[in-house]
Amino acid sequence: MDDYTPKWQHLADGTPASVTHNRECKVCGHGFNASRSDAKYCSQNCRKAQSRKSEKMKRETKKAIHAIEEIRTIAGDDKKLLALAARLEDEIFVTLAGVTDKYDY
Ligand SMILES: [Zn+2]
Repeated sequence: MDDYTPKWQHLADGTPASVTHNRECKVCGHGFNASRSDAKYCSQNCRKAQSRKSEKMKRETKKAIHAIEEIRTIAGDDKKLLALAARLEDEIFVTLAGVTDKYDY
């Protein structure tokens, strides 16, 4: 059953009643019943809020990675600065892994 099939459809045509999954919204934390087992958000508002947040995070991450590239350019073969750049890069990805399900930067 897809998201657009009315809950009463099974009464009309004998298709099985929908199975609902108790989920917790990843944005607001409220519990909700979802027809999909992989649902993450309770509403379109929460889905959009998450989308805006991850778009912003992508932009900020690109800026940070660009800054790290600048450090590498300035560093030349300065091992300490190159190590610092590598550490900053690791920190960014550890942080991203903690706040997103996936990252493709
Ligand atoms: Zn929500």
